[in-house]
Amino acid sequence: MLRLDKFLANMNVGSRSQVHEIIKRGRVTVNGKVCRSAKQKVQENAEVAVDGLPVSYQQYHYFLLNKPAGVLSATEDARQKTVLDLLKKQDRYQKLAPVGRLDKDTTGLLLLTNDGQLAHELLAPEYHVAKTYYALLAGVADEQTKQAVEAGLTLKDGTALKPGKLRILSQDPDKDRSEIEIVITEGKYHQVKRMFASQGMKVLKLKRLKMGPLALPADLPAGNYRELTAGELAALK
Ligand code: URA
Repeated sequence: MLRLDKFLANMNVGSRSQVHEIIKRGRVTVNGKVCRSAKQKVQENAEVAVDGLPVSYQQYHYFLLNKPAGVLSATEDARQKTVLDLLKKQDRYQKLAPVGRLDKDTTGLLLLTNDGQLAHELLAPEYHVAKTYYALLAGVADEQTKQAVEAGLTLKDGTALKPGKLRILSQDPDKDRSEIEIVITEGKYHQVKRMFASQGMKVLKLKRLKMGPLALPADLPAGNYRELTAGELAALK
């Protein structure tokens, strides 16, 4: 049970004061009857409508975003654009936040949710959620790099990492470039960049392709997002 004004405000019908006005004007029905009390307690599954249009209550929202470069994985910033700025106004639910962070210049899969419990589980070190990244490197990753990553690298500051998995996609010694896919199960600050820095290589491009059971859909352009499908959500929980 929750108050009618909270029910409507949580579903982004309007701000608390706008919702009060809408209720006062008799535009809201609960189970078919006009309700003019913002304090009225309603069940989450009540039939609520505004101007005859049903508003169903959904406590949690899950969006899969293809993060473009140049935006921050934060909920607000005084000067810079954040991933929440990429959402349509009606999708900016209260407490919606990115699950973990991608650097400003990193692109790819980012989950946004207001389900704090799920976010916590996906980020908690003990759950070892695997994350797959594509990277373009300045440097030539080779069998030795692969062995080092898979044995567990030690970063320049002495941090010992869990073993990752490395797949070399291409090597171009003439241009001193390589492309790789790496899977890691931790989420340390700038982890992938620091892993390759420890091997004398610079990450020029970084894109997250997967997180746990979620994969970046091939048909989701950078800057776009969509709700998780029921299947994706079930796989996450
Ligand atoms: N590792 C990094 O270095 N940066 C990211 O954005 C994600 C993983």
